[in-house]
Amino acid sequence: MNHFELREGELYCEDVSLARIAEAVGTPVYVYSSATLERHYLVLRDALRDAGLGEPLIAFAVKANSNVAVLKTLGALGAGADVVSEGEVRRALAAGIAPERIVFSGVGKTAQEIAFALQAGVAEINVESEPELKLVDQVAQGLKTRARIAIRVNPDVEAGGHAKISTGKAENKFGVSFAEAERLYANASNAAGLKPVGVACHIGSQITDLAPMEAAFGKMRSLVERLRRQGLAVERLDLGGGLGVPYFNQPEPPSPAAYAAMIARVMAGLEIQFAFEPGRMIAANAGVLVARVQHVNARPEGRNFLVLDAAMNDLLRPAMYDAYHDIRPVRPRPGAAVTYDVVGPVCETGDTFTRDRALAPMQAGDLLAFMTAGAYGAAMSSEYNSRPLVPEVLVKGAAFAVVRPRQTYDEMLARERPAPWL
Ligand SMILES: *Cc1c(COP(=O)(O)O)cnc(C)c1O
Repeated sequence: MNHFELREGELYCEDVSLARIAEAVGTPVYVYSSATLERHYLVLRDALRDAGLGEPLIAFAVKANSNVAVLKTLGALGAGADVVSEGEVRRALAAGIAPERIVFSGVGKTAQEIAFALQAGVAEINVESEPELKLVDQVAQGLKTRARIAIRVNPDVEAGGHAKISTGKAENKFGVSFAEAERLYANASNAAGLKPVGVACHIGSQITDLAPMEAAFGKMRSLVERLRRQGLAVERLDLGGGLGVPYFNQPEPPSPAAYAAMIARVMAGLEIQFAFEPGRMIAANAGVLVARVQHVNARPEGRNFLVLDAAMNDLLRPAMYDAYHDIRPVRPRPGAAVTYDVVGPVCETGDTFTRDRALAPMQAGDLLAFMTAGAYGAAMSSEYNSRPLVPEVLVKGAAFAVVRPRQTYDEMLARERPAPWL
């Protein structure tokens, strides 16, 4: 469920018409709904609570949507943050998220990033390999502290989604095997700079089937039990993110309630604090990308190109993952649907959002919205083709605020320096 709906023939975000935002801020522009962000977070929190999983740490995956206003909205409800870089640690802290609710994941954290996170006092560093474990130990000893760490396990399961976002197979770069995890956990408990507090997994993204998760989580439980039988303390079990969202033409993903019930079943009787790292399921349906039609280019060979002012640099998912986004006219015109190829202005064929899409008839100047663009949308945007970074707007009820202004060309150019010999 989300708060984007037609009212008197016009698409609204909560109580604000998208056309009004486009008028005020220009296009392309991302628009986020506070009510939808809040709802998704609370539905998950309550589902986990109702299933008897206690008060888990729900650490929003900042890489899905790193806008500080979005992080603040979720942080105010009690969300923590799952971060993968020093920049994301800084964003989470800037949003007022307590360091004890920040989990630091990622396969290639640098010594500087680790030091920054330890000094900030993050809840846990999820360690993904033996060399990284050694590095965290060294850095922590250098700072005369003990790093709270979790070992990220790669449960070796196939978890749907696109190949580029599948992370839980042995051939992927993430995490260590179960045998390795046991060895590293025991080593860590003897290391001067480390305090192992838990184990973690994250098997992929846009997962629409609970079976692979259930298989992985069962193995994680056994790991916790084996570690405890060796006399090792395990406080926390981090089950990652990855639950999918409906992108309109795809299988309906499992509900948070079904997800929570499955976990409660697999973990029955296990005393532990759970942690989760949801990204997409919180933010995806809470955002849209609004764009304007530049041209309707009807080719004599029969293809109808809808040329937009938004491009692959603003919304990369279709080019990167062949992703499908529902496209809705902001003010649908009456008349029979027309089949369009929807493209951006960037100089490569990859800048195609979709082909052969039936839409209400469109004219130059019309607005349309890419739905389900709140996760991995603005966060993956770039300035490719020297197009200024796309602005972001947050709506709350009848109010809206520009939470990332459109960058000016002067700002873009001011970041560069001439080489002395030029
Ligand atoms: C990307 C990522 C997530 C979030 O994945 P979603 O599919 O957006 O829920 C969680 N944990 C880690 C370690 C990640 O890399």
